[in-house]
Amino acid sequence: MTKPLVAGNWKMHGNTETASNLAAQLAEQWNDHLPVEMVILPPFVHLAAVKAALAKSTIAVGAQNISQHEGGAYTGETSGEMLVDLGCDYVLVGHSERRELFGECSATVAEKFKAAQKVGLTPILCVGESLQQRQQQQTLDVVNGQIAAVIDCVGLHNVCRAVIAYEPVWAIGTGEVASPQQAQQVHSAIRTQLGDAGADTRLLYGGSVKANSAAELFAQSDINGGLVGGASLEAQEFLNIVKLAE
Ligand code: PEP
Repeated sequence: MTKPLVAGNWKMHGNTETASNLAAQLAEQWNDHLPVEMVILPPFVHLAAVKAALAKSTIAVGAQNISQHEGGAYTGETSGEMLVDLGCDYVLVGHSERRELFGECSATVAEKFKAAQKVGLTPILCVGESLQQRQQQQTLDVVNGQIAAVIDCVGLHNVCRAVIAYEPVWAIGTGEVASPQQAQQVHSAIRTQLGDAGADTRLLYGGSVKANSAAELFAQSDINGGLVGGASLEAQEFLNIVKLAE
């Protein structure tokens, strides 16, 4: 059976002390026996401190970005090997903020996905439509197209080994969460696109998830957990959300 996963994207928040404290609070209160995987995604510069704070815990750690290059003269970039060296298991790829604010196109996202798997990291591939695309009934075409670009690069089997997060852009950081029906419709289309090979692929919903909206979302048949931004910065709220994915 697919083990649900809830990931907390801390974005560009905090400092070493707040990151360590938050990780320590999560580690202290997390029940390792729950059938849910918790992953936290701190900024690069806090990965080592967070990893240390989680030393005795099963909570996994990931990064928010990865270079598509293996190494070399790429000032300011962070390679997959470096993330593995820091103890990461996961990495976000194609978050809408990277696509929109930093111009990452589908080809770059696919290269990053490939670079992650090459070093043994599990990519969390983020896909989702803008408000305008939803209003123009393009949601499924956009989402299936973003996934198809990665399938073209690495093959269906490799995409099915990853985690896919459906995050409608209009729901990220806006407080406007997709309805469970809207989310399920897109997750079902993704599941269909993946076919039999994707029956156990973990599909997450992301976009303004809070403890009061998570239960109904996570109860949908094709939703296997969540990608949580703002609400992952508060230990109790995040723990409450993670528990709802059981
Ligand atoms: C995110 O950063 O992926 C996200 C879903 O953020 P928020 O939960 O704040 O909308």
